[in-house]
Amino acid sequence: MQKIFIIIRSLDEAGRMLIFAGNSETLIYPVDHHMRIPKRNFAMFEDSYKHKGMRRALVRTIQKKGITSEKVLHAIDTVPRHVFLDEAFLEHAYQDKAFQIGEGQTISQPFTVAFQTQLLDVQPKAKILEIGTGSGYQCCVLLAMGVQVYTIEYNWILYQRARKTIQKLGYKAHTFHGDGSKGLPQYAPFDGIIVTAGAPTVPLALIEQLKPGGRLVIPVGDRQSQRMLLVQKEPDGQITKKEFPNFSFVPLLGEYGWQN
Ligand code: SAM
Repeated sequence: MQKIFIIIRSLDEAGRMLIFAGNSETLIYPVDHHMRIPKRNFAMFEDSYKHKGMRRALVRTIQKKGITSEKVLHAIDTVPRHVFLDEAFLEHAYQDKAFQIGEGQTISQPFTVAFQTQLLDVQPKAKILEIGTGSGYQCCVLLAMGVQVYTIEYNWILYQRARKTIQKLGYKAHTFHGDGSKGLPQYAPFDGIIVTAGAPTVPLALIEQLKPGGRLVIPVGDRQSQRMLLVQKEPDGQITKKEFPNFSFVPLLGEYGWQN
């Protein structure tokens, strides 16, 4: 009896998997051109057991530091943070610390990402505005929680790079380049707004762009250290504030941020 073997040979340009079958005496011939693989698999990044193990350890670390939301912990466990850093810095990707991403900017510390996301308290399909796309990591953490994200970045190079990374991971966000200190009035109102750069004061424009019942999470202080503010717009339009100490972000620039 002849032995039939199957070789998955390659993907064609339309993203179809070409399967070839044959044996030692016949020519190899294609048997199926029709299995469609999502195109993004071409640019698949590596997410190995080692990465997953490091991520699991990171989740335990931030849990010990006080993050309790299962949804947030699951998102941190899901999104491969190493993809947002240069390959050479893999060892830094799963430590609980901020790290440089070029252009004088940073990817926030995982605890801070989790803390801000927990304060935002998102519901599935919520419409969220993120100010300060940076690497795109916080954006992907939110997307992993099933919300719609509008994200705006001031720096052109980071904006371009983050767009590519978000796409490479197969996520879909509405990405913008510009001054996020003014919000995105043309897409308002939002269920939540998260600012990932330190502001001198709370921009009123952002409160105006919140839905009733919406939440704004924003670090406010001087250029070195900030308090995290949770600003809530109650269903009757009243504004309440809560504060949490000791954060340190790069400055929010632009019209309602720092001037230089
Ligand atoms: N959320 C990011 C992440 O997950 O990588 C980290 C953000 S980083 C700490 C702060 C970012 O805010 C920087 O990329 C900076 O260029 C950006 N930024 C500063 N002022 C801004 C503004 N007015 N509008 C939009 N982005 C701004």
